Amino acid sequence: EQWEAAVAAVRALGGDAGIQLICHVSPDGDALGSMLGFGLALRRLGFTRVRATFPGEFRVPTPYAELPGVDLLVPEAEAFTDPALVLVFDVAAESRMGGLAGLVAAAPVSVVLDHHASNTGFGTIRLVDPRAAATSVLAEQLVTRLGVPLDAEIAECFYVALATDTGSFKFEATTVAVHELAARLIATGLRPGDISRRIFDTRPFGAMKLTGEVLGRAVLEPSAAGGRGLVWTYATLADLERHDQPPYVLDTLIDPVRSAAEADVALLVKQVAEREWAVSLRSKGAVDVSRLAMSQGGGGHRLAAGFTGYGEPGDVVDTVRRLLDDYLS
Ligand code: 5GP
Ligand code: MN
Ligand code: MN
Repeated sequence: EQWEAAVAAVRALGGDAGIQLICHVSPDGDALGSMLGFGLALRRLGFTRVRATFPGEFRVPTPYAELPGVDLLVPEAEAFTDPALVLVFDVAAESRMGGLAGLVAAAPVSVVLDHHASNTGFGTIRLVDPRAAATSVLAEQLVTRLGVPLDAEIAECFYVALATDTGSFKFEATTVAVHELAARLIATGLRPGDISRRIFDTRPFGAMKLTGEVLGRAVLEPSAAGGRGLVWTYATLADLERHDQPPYVLDTLIDPVRSAAEADVALLVKQVAEREWAVSLRSKGAVDVSRLAMSQGGGGHRLAAGFTGYGEPGDVVDTVRRLLDDYLS
């Protein structure tokens, strides 16, 4: 019935209604892909005033800068001030929308599409399904219910979103339904090899060198995490500066960290500002890291979560060690 309400909310609008799309801060492939794919579908429906945005610095990670529909993106300051409808993509909590949260609260109707188990329950119409592998799974369903056929541009956005959030179809959420959706998206004429190379396998040389340094200082603590092992490392703003790289190059760095066989939990501590760190947590199964993250004001999924930590990297690692001890005792 939430789906019908969402469809009705879109159908109730005239073609010149202002529609504001919002995704989370430091947007990833799912946030941008689900939002832009849906924005393109609104265009196909004849809506002429569609804007997409995210809070904070207006910087689109290079791999996503060529997504179809990027022309829908505007800086936060250029979002509609009184949109007829707001749609929110991949946002687990209002805090992940910064100053745009007020816009969502004030909108006559807000449709929330999300798949985080930790979703806090904001918005008037809620399409929230923690079993969905990506928000784009939900966005595609809404597009289909609105009667918009998938074309190659919409499909590319949703495919990038799906491929990013499933770790290239590797994570446990990769079900038969995920592959069936991927097949339908590819059938529009996508070239998965080209997309994967562009999104996952192309980075500046400096990012490669930075990765090497951060991985080089990783620490393995076999006795931590209830004896299952903890691996951790950190990256500072000085590291980014030394290699002349933007913060988003660290977004996927947790992946090689968590490959350490001896560790059940992986931790990457990324500096955001003086004594402020974005913390990425990954689990191989025994620990529900979203519960750890939520206890620190963050959130995420059972096997992938994050929060904001304060102090020195060692302080953040101490906090996580303590949380793990409590969790596993
Ligand atoms: P990542 O480690 O890739 O940044 O994030 C992993 C997962 O945790 C993602 O689903 C992301 O949305 C969630 N997450 C990361 N940081 C935060 C945070 O500070 N707050 C909340 N609510 N979720 C977060
Ligand atoms: Mn996301
Ligand atoms: Mn997502």
